[in-house]
Amino acid sequence: MTIQTSITERHDALLKAATLHQHRRQPITDFTYPEGVKIAVNFTLDFDAMLLRRLLNEPWGQRAKGEFGGRVGIWRILDMFDAQGVKVTLFTPGRICELYPEALKRAVAAGHELADHMWQHEVPEDPAIEDAHLTRAIAALEGFAGTPIIGTRSSHTPRLLREKGIVYNSFTSADYLPFYELDAAGENPILQLPFHYALDDAMYFSFGWLDTPNDAQRIMDVDEVFEIWWAAFEQQYRRGGYANFLLHPFVSGRAMRVDMLERLIRRMKTLPDVWFPTCAELARHILTNHPYQKAPR
Ligand SMILES: [Zn+2]
Repeated sequence: MTIQTSITERHDALLKAATLHQHRRQPITDFTYPEGVKIAVNFTLDFDAMLLRRLLNEPWGQRAKGEFGGRVGIWRILDMFDAQGVKVTLFTPGRICELYPEALKRAVAAGHELADHMWQHEVPEDPAIEDAHLTRAIAALEGFAGTPIIGTRSSHTPRLLREKGIVYNSFTSADYLPFYELDAAGENPILQLPFHYALDDAMYFSFGWLDTPNDAQRIMDVDEVFEIWWAAFEQQYRRGGYANFLLHPFVSGRAMRVDMLERLIRRMKTLPDVWFPTCAELARHILTNHPYQKAPR
């Protein structure tokens, strides 16, 4: 193969992938919030505890950090959100229901939303096992929530998610406003509530994150992260945009970080028309007022 042929083939493959993804992602062109709302801010907690650390067979020190999230961090962070009157969404692996049931009871009693985050933080390749994992995770969470689970943060198959009653996902940074995502066949639309890594606590505070080498260690000054997050929020506020903060209780549950988050929320509240819904509340607003419509091809 000549160099030219190989470049052309790579270009064609890229173009094909870009076209496919463009068709899969359908923006909501007339996106509006409820009357009197300028921006929605979702605080989303990935209640992973040590599950992912175990799957990756990470050393004991990393797993202990996860355990802190389940035993201490989650309580602290929920206390702060409750004091601020802000409802959050907990993306929770099914197994957490067995490990930290009291924390989940407390979250539900305070009006927070539970949503799926896989059975044990993985999506099995075998379709039958994937189905079993999702079914089991949703049933476990519904046992605590007492209401249907309608959201996920996962790469579960869209058709399967819809079959199980899941109407929104928060698992991509492919856009900055909520949008509809279709599967590769152009079917099974799911509302995506996009996050961004710039608003993900692990990017700033989690050393040894996902097997990163020593030179990628990070424990940033909370004041510096406060400024970055405030700037990101303010920029979206001016444009009537959206902010989805992705927090891990084992990361953000540390005292100085909980304090920083509280300062951030207090400052957000100084501006008018800031809405702090759960993901389910925001999803219901969008599905009612901006339902999916098949775009002409
Ligand atoms: Zn996770």
